Amino acid sequence: MCFSSTFDGIKHRFVDISHLGIEAPFLPATLGLRSQALKLTFVSPEPNALFLKPTLSLEEMKGLVEKRYDANKAETVFHRAFVGDTISLIYSPVYIDDKIYDAVLNKPLSVKPPADFDISTRPAESPDWPIRFIPALCQTCGWDLEGDRESLTLICRNCTSIWQATETGLEALKFGVMPGDNPDAVHLPFWRIKAAVSGIELHTYADLVKHANLPKVITSDMLDTKFYFWVQAFKVRPKIFLRISRKMTLSQPREELITGIPEGRLYPVTLPVQEAVESLKLLLAGFVKPLNHFLPDLPNIQITPKSVRLAFIPFEEGQHEFIQPESLLTINKNMLAISKNL
Ligand SMILES: [Zn+2]
Repeated sequence: MCFSSTFDGIKHRFVDISHLGIEAPFLPATLGLRSQALKLTFVSPEPNALFLKPTLSLEEMKGLVEKRYDANKAETVFHRAFVGDTISLIYSPVYIDDKIYDAVLNKPLSVKPPADFDISTRPAESPDWPIRFIPALCQTCGWDLEGDRESLTLICRNCTSIWQATETGLEALKFGVMPGDNPDAVHLPFWRIKAAVSGIELHTYADLVKHANLPKVITSDMLDTKFYFWVQAFKVRPKIFLRISRKMTLSQPREELITGIPEGRLYPVTLPVQEAVESLKLLLAGFVKPLNHFLPDLPNIQITPKSVRLAFIPFEEGQHEFIQPESLLTINKNMLAISKNL
């Protein structure tokens, strides 16, 4: 999801693009629809193949994407963020005979390489990334961990722990549950993030009431209540992504989180906390008022996460939506990225 913060509000779009990772004007700049239409397989070293090493960094590529968007637009973008992205390195096959051929279509590429083109002078690498498996066993008690196919986290119901896979193995996550009294509730996961925000006082609930101009009288209780960002830990359509986190952040659930794993249904964690953090500046731009005074400062604001907790929040299930009784947040089921029957 690509979000741009402008005077007219936050614009969103869904992005699925590819860009050539090396400098070679005679090769197609993108894969077009191929990256979506063709089935990809895991790369493995092949004896007679040369794997060109990408020379374009991820940041440079994102810059190119932004440029493409901004080409015909006059409006000022104060902040842009890519949230929930999955980035893949795709090797697209070509072969050289009298010309360079597209090895998928077996057809020559339209643009000829320069006369001095020499493939052997290009930096190459051997793809040596074996797939590793991590046993889904609890690191504390050895119990079988459970989790959905798409889930980024695994649960141990024996010793009440939650784990996520990292490069080095499983790592325990801090988590909690917002208590509820409906045994049929569906628990949706949220990231509760405490962060240092530069350039704006945002430490307490009272600070939020002031900056978001909420129709509330500031009480001493609010002055003592810590402010948290709340961002859903699951992927949703870009259209409602910021609406959910804004509603939850403005409602600042005050219930203490309790330890334990809810007995009922849990919606899988599909949005990593790093991606949730990417959205925090947009979230600020979604509630700080007056917005036109605040926007010019936005590029200089730094948000540094200090502590994170995964929180399961109970929702009532309606026919078409999930409803959170305290904040009155409703999420239409068809806006969830995984429309499974819970
Ligand atoms: Zn365990």
